[in-house]
Amino acid sequence: MIEDKNPQRTPVERLGEFGLIDHITKTFQPVQPSTLKSIGDDAAVIHHESPTVVTTDMLVEGVHFDLSYVPLKHLGYKAIMVNLSDIYAMNAKARQVTVSLALSNRFPVEAVEELYDGIHLACKNYGVDLIGGDTTSSLSGLVISVTAVGEQQAEKITYRKGAQDGDLLLVSGDLGAAYMGLQILEREKAVFKANPQNQPDIEAYSYLLERQLKPEARKDIPELLEGLGVLPTSMIDLSDGLSSEIIHLSKNSEVGIRLYEEKIPLDPTVISACEEFGLDSTTIALSGGEDYELLFTIGQEDFPKVKANPNLTVIGHVMDASFGNHLVTRGGEQIPIQAMGWNSFQE
Ligand code: ADP
Ligand code: MG
Repeated sequence: MIEDKNPQRTPVERLGEFGLIDHITKTFQPVQPSTLKSIGDDAAVIHHESPTVVTTDMLVEGVHFDLSYVPLKHLGYKAIMVNLSDIYAMNAKARQVTVSLALSNRFPVEAVEELYDGIHLACKNYGVDLIGGDTTSSLSGLVISVTAVGEQQAEKITYRKGAQDGDLLLVSGDLGAAYMGLQILEREKAVFKANPQNQPDIEAYSYLLERQLKPEARKDIPELLEGLGVLPTSMIDLSDGLSSEIIHLSKNSEVGIRLYEEKIPLDPTVISACEEFGLDSTTIALSGGEDYELLFTIGQEDFPKVKANPNLTVIGHVMDASFGNHLVTRGGEQIPIQAMGWNSFQE
């Protein structure tokens, strides 16, 4: 269903490993002053003025992505986003990334080019430098491992611990759209398999598909909060679904969290897609993954600074640990929050 934009297929062996690395990295020019040496030596050299924040994530074909409906350019973009999201969740500024690849021989040079187009666009949009990586072969499928580094003054780094009884719980953006985008893609893939003449009917779902295929890390949220003079007491990014991230915050902070169903921000297209698929939108927000929004807590005194902001929604508050974690439904019922998050080991 994804058309092959690169009918040419140059085997990687024709360039060799070094030739391939040269070829795909030559368009990357470092922009960060803290990048002292980028690609091309035995190691890169960076010099941050403040503490360095490091995160890494690995994406495995067949486990984390399916190339029958994810274009390689989008995959490259997303591989960078999931890492930058973790940097922003520490309230840090992203500076550099490394990208390591394991490629099976079914990937020609043109496929690697497409992947790196996405990586390049992500680096450009977010102002981060690609400073190195590793390239190796794989017997089956594609593996991409990205490491991102950022920096932030020690007193401004936000951890999962730090939420206090009485704090407010906030989330950026809206939830559940990436998961519903995946449902659409899987349905269209099945339809296409049954009848390849069928063109996918995806116009009405463009927001959901964009959220699944081209997620954007919330670089703007730490900047927005800084501008408002708000330092979150705790923060985490939403990769696995609201319920499991709430549990992470509550465990690390040793608090209880009360979440209000009616406050959960949902895009209207998520609500209509849920109706179409016979799914409960609250369940999708709680358990659907890959939203890459930021979930954080702030002191009550900061409420006036955030309350009018369209990017932020207060969805709950922090209580003593003895209260546990609960969802308060629209009907006023209290349901314990369990970890129901999407994860790659579930199946
Ligand atoms: P070494 O043998 O010293 O590990 P390599 O030949 O693997 O060096 O890599 C040469 C340079 O290219 C290094 O700067 C390395 O970080 C970079 N590099 C290798 N593979 C990639 C990749 N897939 N993406 C970005 N940079 C890469
Ligand atoms: Mg190497």
